[in-house]
Amino acid sequence: MTTAVESFDALRNRLTGELATPGEPLYAALTTGFNLAVTPTPAAVVEARSPQDVAEAVRFAGDAGYAVSVQATGHGIAATLDGTILVHTGRLDECVVHPEGWARVGAGVRWQQVIDAATPYGLAPLCGSAPGVGVVGYTVGGGIGPVARTYGWSSDRVRAVELVTGDGVLRRATPDEEPDLFWGVRGGKGALGIVTALEFDLVQLPSLYAGALYFAGADTAAVVHRWRDWSAGLPLEATTSFALLQLPPLPGVPEPLAGKYAVAVRFAWTGSPDSGADVLAPMRAVATPIIDAVQTIPYAAIGMVHADPVDPIPAVEATDLLREFPSEAVDALLAVAGPDARSPQVIVEVRQLGGALARPPEHPSALSHRDAAYSLIAIGVPVPPFAELIGPHAQALLEAIGPWADGGALPNMGAGTGAARLSRSYDPATLARLISIATRYDPHNVLRAGQVPVRVG
Ligand SMILES: Cc1cc2nc3c(=O)[nH]c(=O)nc-3n(C[C@H](O)[C@H](O)[C@H](O)COP(=O)(O)OP(=O)(O)OC[C@H]3O[C@@H](n4cnc5c(N)ncnc54)[C@H](O)[C@@H]3O)c2cc1C
Repeated sequence: MTTAVESFDALRNRLTGELATPGEPLYAALTTGFNLAVTPTPAAVVEARSPQDVAEAVRFAGDAGYAVSVQATGHGIAATLDGTILVHTGRLDECVVHPEGWARVGAGVRWQQVIDAATPYGLAPLCGSAPGVGVVGYTVGGGIGPVARTYGWSSDRVRAVELVTGDGVLRRATPDEEPDLFWGVRGGKGALGIVTALEFDLVQLPSLYAGALYFAGADTAAVVHRWRDWSAGLPLEATTSFALLQLPPLPGVPEPLAGKYAVAVRFAWTGSPDSGADVLAPMRAVATPIIDAVQTIPYAAIGMVHADPVDPIPAVEATDLLREFPSEAVDALLAVAGPDARSPQVIVEVRQLGGALARPPEHPSALSHRDAAYSLIAIGVPVPPFAELIGPHAQALLEAIGPWADGGALPNMGAGTGAARLSRSYDPATLARLISIATRYDPHNVLRAGQVPVRVG
């Protein structure tokens, strides 16, 4: 009888990259991702060096009855991926920026690499708040970044996708070739295949007026109520969010914020700096900021708007989408997550959506929730003494905001499997079409593991 190790040897011999099994140093390196709350335990990891390696792994998995999972950076690790074959894409690092305004990247590329390559041309990719996130994992989930209200969803900028479908075939999808895959991979996360390369449009944005105002905890109610009124009237040039922060006193956390409750108002303005300062003035006036870090910045510094952690941390997330955010919702949120609420969450963030995010896309896609007005996310760090408190508190928070929420979840935000999460991520027609396409291209249901798989088990 062939043992699992012997059969993995057969796969290893077909790869140009590496294959690692539990106990090998490479296995430990490749299964450690950004989110330390989850330790993946796949049966084997394939460190792909070419699209053909990805195809070999998927074909092998189909023949041998394994599920395949995929990871680039581990920012979206969802589950332990137990018993799967994990395809690690970190070595698929092609990154070419075309000066006429588009880029082609391999599946292992992070946003900062594209930002750096685009900067000499005054171009910018529509990245998210953290430039260390992977381009592909982010884009296949839609992608709402710091300038999203001006330019819309990152997935709407995609021109072409190369992916290995569940039947082990490498395909190219554009609006004209494989149109079902092109529709579904933009918003459908990894449900339809493992992307090996992505081509997408950039925007002309060498610099912008952006950053964050940080206020003391005592000013929270005034700041959040003002933010709600003020943001309702903002034009498309403005993208904004606020975050209730309880940052631990760790290296890199500014002294005025470390170990204290504070509220951050993030602001990115794609118009002229002077007009941005005028637009932001009412927020600057609501109280005296403890840090005022809104200024003209090169796009390459876009990560400072949200100032997300750059080093791996354990994190658990809870999320919802809001239809509206009236004054009563502010009070309800602050009752459970305000400065006096003893919340165990490190961050509770509300992003204003709308603007260009609400526009119909040029090419329809599997992305649902284009009409959501706000997104809410609570992030806790599961270490003592908070570990046991985070989940129940997040549940209480979602219940408190429930009257204004629609129960939806963007594919990028939080993680989860099963019918409940799927119905939060996709409207019924979109989910049915995703499942139908997945069934056609993935007869063995190999792609049943990941951040939001559409067919599980
Ligand atoms: C600090 C931080 C900041 C974030 N900021 C934002 C933000 O501003 N806006 C936003 O929209 N999201 C944001 N996210 C969420 C992020 O976009 C998702 O978690 C995304 O899935 C991360 O992709 P990754 O490849 O880096 O992560 P990974 O953990 O490597 O992958 C996560 C999932 O992405 C999919 N995926 C990855 N690679 C491939 C591939 N080659 N083919 C097919 N599917 C693939 C799979 O479903 C996989 O399970 C943030 C996350 C973190 C941790």
